[in-house]
Amino acid sequence: MESVIHDAEDIVDPKAAQAAVSTGRLPSDEAVRAALSRVHRRFRDDRGGKVADYIPVLAEADPELFGIALAHVGGSLHAVGDAEHLFSIQSVSKAFVFALVDQELGHHTVRRRIGVNSTGLPFDSVLAVELNHGSPMNPMVNAGALATAALAPGDSPEERWEFVRRGLSRFAGRELRLDQRVYASEAATNQRNESIARLLDSYGVLARDPATTTDLYTRQCSLAVCVRDLAVMGATLANGGVNPLTGDRVVSPGVCRDTLAALATSGLYERSGDWLYEVGMPGKSGVSGGIVTVAPGKGSIAAFSPRLDPAGNSVRGQRVTHYLSGALGLDLFASTPHPGSGG
Ligand code: GLU
Repeated sequence: MESVIHDAEDIVDPKAAQAAVSTGRLPSDEAVRAALSRVHRRFRDDRGGKVADYIPVLAEADPELFGIALAHVGGSLHAVGDAEHLFSIQSVSKAFVFALVDQELGHHTVRRRIGVNSTGLPFDSVLAVELNHGSPMNPMVNAGALATAALAPGDSPEERWEFVRRGLSRFAGRELRLDQRVYASEAATNQRNESIARLLDSYGVLARDPATTTDLYTRQCSLAVCVRDLAVMGATLANGGVNPLTGDRVVSPGVCRDTLAALATSGLYERSGDWLYEVGMPGKSGVSGGIVTVAPGKGSIAAFSPRLDPAGNSVRGQRVTHYLSGALGLDLFASTPHPGSGG
């Protein structure tokens, strides 16, 4: 499968990207605002990709919607385009539910019970479970996200749902609500996820029964967010677990780095390697068109545009983030020689 990123390479001026190599801080608010407007203009007319249609209600999304937000760990928030438009969080929820469960159970337990290696197969692969002898493999594919949801604490389905909803709301800094239409549409066409949950259960690796686990996972995917919410959620992971807008400590610094490490290997489905190679930061995408990307210690970029590549990643979202990574000096792997080191 071709990456949609590399054919957009010419948009990053290599000199500017080098000058903006990570200094440990984001550029000024003014420079960030200018970069957001520039990149929004640059990709406004990009019509690459296709809106997801395997969940009926997702096919109704307006493909022209396009919003970008950037949240700084210092608390400033910049947005451009359709930044208030609500959409279902879908797979982006996996990152944050994993963080909440890691916070409850700890680094080693989640690694043992869920795993952190990529599968190289699509997000909803049944074959991946079979090939890996019942291992859910990682929290960002559906098998791993179901295994993660099954570990949510609580004595009843309602309590476990509240744990997830409340936890994701704390990441976002506002009360998030279920999109009932998305939930109903997804619940009615969820046979594949039900099958994955049952298969995991047959291997004895699902902590709760498959039906309530699938329902909890479907609910978490149906939470309504806007691109600003995603940026604040990502910035909480960039900020050692403290929401930079509310000051609420949501998870520990160790949980943030666990989550970002898991995203680095598998946040963009089977294109995660291409993503890390081009963008140089952990990110998580979802089939409704959202992508959240985290620059640890600096902030988070969120993009929303419903047209997807064949793996399920927003096309404009990838291109925008690639541009901003270079323009704002966010690539974690970029460096320049130390002044005293010669060269
Ligand atoms: N709820 C969707 C599913 O399980 C999420 C997929 C995604 O965003 O990757 O199929």
